Amino acid sequence: MKYINFGKTSIKVSEVGFGGIPIIRLQIDEAIKVLRHAYEKGITFYDTANMYRDSEAKIGQAFSEARDKIIIATKTMRRDAKGFARHLEKSLGDLKTSYIDIYQFHQVANIDEWEKLCRPDGALAAAQKAKEEGKIRFLGLTSHNLPVAIDIIKTGIFDTIQFPFNFIEEDFKKELYKYALNNGIGMIAMKPFAGGVIDNAGLAFKYLRQFPEVIPIPGFDSIETVDEVTSLYEKSNEITEKDKKGMDKYRRELGKKFCRRCEYCQPCPEGVMITPAMGYPIVAKRMSPAVSVEFLKIPMESTLKCTQCGACVERCPYELPIFEILKNNYSLYISHLAQSK
Ligand code: SF4
Ligand code: SF4
Repeated sequence: MKYINFGKTSIKVSEVGFGGIPIIRLQIDEAIKVLRHAYEKGITFYDTANMYRDSEAKIGQAFSEARDKIIIATKTMRRDAKGFARHLEKSLGDLKTSYIDIYQFHQVANIDEWEKLCRPDGALAAAQKAKEEGKIRFLGLTSHNLPVAIDIIKTGIFDTIQFPFNFIEEDFKKELYKYALNNGIGMIAMKPFAGGVIDNAGLAFKYLRQFPEVIPIPGFDSIETVDEVTSLYEKSNEITEKDKKGMDKYRRELGKKFCRRCEYCQPCPEGVMITPAMGYPIVAKRMSPAVSVEFLKIPMESTLKCTQCGACVERCPYELPIFEILKNNYSLYISHLAQSK
């Protein structure tokens, strides 16, 4: 494991980090085991969020005796000063620490949200105060929206940027990567597996290791997954012709318009289970159609309640035509159902 300077912050982090979502589904003892195992394997960078249920608390418990050995990044969706202060205090308490290394504004999706953050009673003023008080060392931004992220990062306010980056979602490596690199902004790659659609860790990390200044944060839910990824960092990073063909195959099959399972479109007022239903074709490909119709029966049947109100489409950062995709996925489900009878 190598350790790299994180932009022009004074922080050094392991070349691969730990994404804090999957530990939500683990019992506390298991989560602590996985977190500590990752540390033993050399991972020193842990990314979590206020909205990831008990993820902060699990990280806090795992590392309460080793706080100075790790770097913690967490985030809040709150855009107002009061809400920000409440979330920060909760993060500090759950993480059992007096300071957060990187506190990020979570998923700033559009300029309206940025303007809210910048109001006199907005979260930015509260974050800057917390920085002066030593509760936050560095400020970060996370977004799925490229033009918005570029505009905000160019204000010079932020020390780090977190953006989706993998061999299918490559937009980051154009203007945003170059700007961040030239201006000493630390870079975090969210979704190294494109939200779970890339199921080849070897290819995923061979691609990302071409950008050593960018720290990927795969989510881990077992000792085995930690070992799988950390062992890749001990291997050669040479991308062969076979690897290139493998990546191209994924790109061809998935295209640009696929669901990253970020859940920002939810909740649906009609109770449609959007995210699992959006992923039906991928699941059907991985399992057999006969298994997938069983496995996703409830989400697929829930799509019939869609009134095409468009609320989810407005919230999707990828502007996916959600109800059209759901309709197509439902037709596929019905055809699989017929085949499996
Ligand atoms: S368009 Fe359909 S799935 Fe989306 S929020 Fe409206 S009812 Fe729910
Ligand atoms: S439809 Fe859009 S918002 Fe909803 S989970 Fe998929 S990518 Fe995320």
